[in-house]
Amino acid sequence: MGRRSLTERESTHQTEDVFRSANERIAGKARELRWRFPVPFLCECSDTHCFARIELVLEEYEGMRSHRRQYVIASGHELVGAFLIERDEQVAFVEKLHEQKG
Ligand SMILES: [Zn+2]
Repeated sequence: MGRRSLTERESTHQTEDVFRSANERIAGKARELRWRFPVPFLCECSDTHCFARIELVLEEYEGMRSHRRQYVIASGHELVGAFLIERDEQVAFVEKLHEQKG
């Protein structure tokens, strides 16, 4: 398996979902390595140019991820169509009100 670039065809894909799949790979790796330190995840906000890092221990990430509509973003960033659930100085957990269509 080599590196594969993102196809333009997947333009219906929301930015946050691209970051989300990247984060799932990071989480998978951390799980594999039984990493107990904070893991550097990517901010899942709506800004395509955002490369902010969010440090979460794997358990926190997985707890959030078990809710399909929840995303994790850097505190102060924004995810369109989502409301804030919880936030501290660095991290904010948000939840989308509706599933995105198209
Ligand atoms: Zn961001």
